This record gives sequence, structure tokens and C-alpha cells, in this order.
Amino acid sequence: MGLKIVYSEKHKKHNPTREFILGRFEKYKECEKRVENILIEAKKRRLISANQQELIKPTDHGLKHILKLHSQDYVDYLKTAYKNWLRIGGSEVGVFPADFPVRDFANKHRENKGGNGGSRGYYTSGLHSVIVEGTFEAAYEAVQVALTAADILVKEDNTHVLALSRPPGHHAHGDLCGGYCFFNNAAITAKYLIDELKVGKVAILDIDYHHGNGTQEFFYSQNNPLYASIHGENDYPYYWGSASEKGTGQGLGYTINRPLKKGTKDEEYLKTLKEILENIKLNFKPNLILISLGLDTFEKDPVGNFKLSSNCYLQIGKLIKGLNLKCLFLLEGGYALENIGENCLNVLHAFNDTLIKSSL
Ligand SMILES: [Zn+2]
Repeated sequence: MGLKIVYSEKHKKHNPTREFILGRFEKYKECEKRVENILIEAKKRRLISANQQELIKPTDHGLKHILKLHSQDYVDYLKTAYKNWLRIGGSEVGVFPADFPVRDFANKHRENKGGNGGSRGYYTSGLHSVIVEGTFEAAYEAVQVALTAADILVKEDNTHVLALSRPPGHHAHGDLCGGYCFFNNAAITAKYLIDELKVGKVAILDIDYHHGNGTQEFFYSQNNPLYASIHGENDYPYYWGSASEKGTGQGLGYTINRPLKKGTKDEEYLKTLKEILENIKLNFKPNLILISLGLDTFEKDPVGNFKLSSNCYLQIGKLIKGLNLKCLFLLEGGYALENIGENCLNVLHAFNDTLIKSSL
């Protein structure tokens, strides 16, 4: 059983330096080291060699799969926002919107995109997705990484795939960036697997600390893919992810939310994960599973508020492996730079026979 990794160094083009937190500018946590540290750990555990020759480069699938879920005007906005921002004298730190639509009014007047200045607020759900010069290029490439991983997963026997997509995607809506996300890599890939690669039933398991509001919204009224999430209760993105959100119409029952209290530790987390996986296996019977792999559930993560140990990620991997399905892992959050490599490779441990257990 093999494990392949798709990677592009273009993720480095998205390099904001600051974000606005609690009224202060702080270092941007969604940084390139998150991915690079995973590669360092993969070398230590001999999953890849020193020259990284095993890493697979993405093939360009074009904009068309992005445009199935994101609007053309939002794509145009991401492409031009930084240049326009500089043109009006905005700081090189990146685009920080200051004017937001009154929600109900904006929903009734969708043709009004807020004009030259207001559009920044119109296309943004919060201040954590800072747009800089290379953001569009990196976000576009992150989608290509994910789509290429889907191709490999479907074409090759006995293979699981890790897509090192960065920036992450699960908080991105059709025309909204937010929570460090711009294009919804997981949602675009799930749709591609179902519509283009005709794989049948796809389950999306979102194990990032935060609820994947964007992914849920795309598929809320559909019965394929299924969306299941374990996440922190009453935490970002705040307005989504309650257990009562179960889907609507023919999608009813195909959204599963299991919010857990802040401070949740290994045992309770694993119990909940086991229940969800059993539910998915028995009732949905997917043909493959796409994992929105967030590692911000870790006890030392500076953003998430669960208390999972590094050992817990070995158990998470084992439980997912127990489904006996092809698995496509897509990187989402995870900000404990010292540990993200070890925790990521711990999840993957069960999926590759040659992977040594720990770098220590
Ligand atoms: Zn997260």
C-alpha cells in the first residue's frame, strides 16, 4: 500500500506577514513553514528522499473546476485586489477590508458588489485571509495540487494521496474568503471526483479544529458528497457547525456535525471519531473518503483549543485506515510549527508500510 504526495512550491507566493488579532497586528500564522516542516519530517521518516524526487508536481486543470463553485467576479476580485489596494495607497502588509455589507440588504442586492472600495468587505467573511501579491497564484495552485491528487487516487491501485494544498480552503464560500482560505480545495475536489471522475459516493471527513463552513454550505442540500465534521464548539467560524445542522431537502442527513468542548482530549475525540466513521461506513457506504486534514487540534496549537497528543494522530490514522477505503488527505489548518510535521506523518503512518514510526 503506497502513499503519494502532491506538492508545489508555489504555495510560498502566498506570504502575508501580519494578521489583525485582538486589536493588534501579529505574525501571520498560516505561513509556508507549515508545509515545509511536513516535508522535513517526511524526509526524516524516509517517506521521501533528501532531493524530494518522490513529490509529484500538480498538472494544470485550468479555472473551470474552480468556477463550478466560486463565482467569476470573486475570482476576478482575488486576482486584482492587491494591485487595486496598492493603487489607492493601501499598506504593503496586504488587503484589509474595512467596510462590510449589511447582510440582509446585501443578499437582496447581489448585483451590487460594493464598488471600488466596498468590494473588499463584500468578498470577505473576516480579516484572517490577507491578500498579497502572490495570493491568487498560490490559491489557484493549491486547487491544482488537490485535483492532481484526486487523479492519482482514482488511477492508481493501492494508493492513498496527500495533497499539500496551501493556502487551506474549508472556510472559503462561493464568493467569500475567510479563515486563511480563498478557494475551497476540498469542495472543488469532491465535486471533481463525483462529476468528472465518476467515483460514485464521496465522504468528506473534516478533522480540522474548526468547522468547515464553506464546504458544508456548498453541499448542504445534496446527498453526495456527505460532509462530516468534528470541531471546537462556540469557536471560529462561530455561526456554523451546530449539531442541529444536518442538511436540507435531499441533503437532509448528509451533513454531520459533532462539536466538542474546548479542552477535549484524546479519549473523547477518538470515541467521537469512531462513532462518525462507523456511521459513515454503515449508512453512507462511500466509495472513497476525502479528509480535510487540519492539525490544529493539537494540544500546543496556538489557534485551536483541543488538547490532543501527538500519539492521538497515530490512532486517528488507524481508525480512518479501518474504513478500508482509498483516502485523499487535503491539508487544512495546523499552526504548531514544531509539531505539525510529526502529527501529520503520524496520521499517515497507517497508510504506508515503509514509514518509520517517529523521527525521534
Ligand atoms: Zn482550523
